[in-house]
Amino acid sequence: MDFAFVGGALERHGEAREDAGWLRGRFDDDLAEVIVLRGSRDVLLAAPAPQLLRIPLPLLRERFEATRFTYLGEQEGRTLFALGLREEEQGEFLAVHPALPGELRAAATNLPPHEAGLAAFACALAYWQSRSHFCGVCGAHTLLSAGGHRALCCNGACGAAFFPRTDPCVIMLVNDGERALLGRQPSWPEGRYSTLAGFVEPGETLEDAVRRETLEESGIRVGDCRYIGSQPWPFPASLMLGFEAQAESNDIRIGAEMADVRWFTRDELRSGAVKLSPRFSISRFLIDRWLDRD
Ligand SMILES: [Zn+2]
Repeated sequence: MDFAFVGGALERHGEAREDAGWLRGRFDDDLAEVIVLRGSRDVLLAAPAPQLLRIPLPLLRERFEATRFTYLGEQEGRTLFALGLREEEQGEFLAVHPALPGELRAAATNLPPHEAGLAAFACALAYWQSRSHFCGVCGAHTLLSAGGHRALCCNGACGAAFFPRTDPCVIMLVNDGERALLGRQPSWPEGRYSTLAGFVEPGETLEDAVRRETLEESGIRVGDCRYIGSQPWPFPASLMLGFEAQAESNDIRIGAEMADVRWFTRDELRSGAVKLSPRFSISRFLIDRWLDRD
């Protein structure tokens, strides 16, 4: 599937990165490269080509502490790290390494999918790290280990370990064969509609979540639902799980969180009168896939 944040052909070496000696070897590799972020939300892009800025690790190794680098993995035989710049470091860095800062969501429309996938991975880790400075059990400081993929409590009597979280979210193209059910949230631009979506709750199957969210947002009962595909959605840490679902009722009751929910025919959606989600999103993929089946 060719939407953003998917792919990347990255070997993450999840087990090997637990080994500090192995990780040190990757960090000593002079051919390793570093993807640079501004905080956890913006990426630095090489100008003018639409690709992530990659800095040879030897140029940065002396200037930043080793613990600042997050190990991403190996791509086409090359080791990749990520480094998130602090606010006070950005001016000096950009003076030495010219680049275009880009917000991740905007970068997703400009970058090739595998580059956007890498950016999403790096930003999601940086976001989690920025919120993992203290132990959630005893309140002591944490230290990052496993190449930045684990936060370990410094209190020896506690020793709790924390890992990056991913929040599952179902997103569904509900239809009755002839019409698709789309909605809009109050904050969206006028005329913009998208597939319904919502977070999975504890103790719920994905199918239960599809049925509950659809009922809450639209009052429509859903029967059969089929998993189509997924998309990491790093705003900040979701995984969108895409479904196509069969409506079993007709009358819409607009949910409290929605500005509007409507049925649309294929002709209406093709007419261009409805502003749909951007092409890099799984929402659009689900809609286009349904339109193509006419
Ligand atoms: Zn602790």
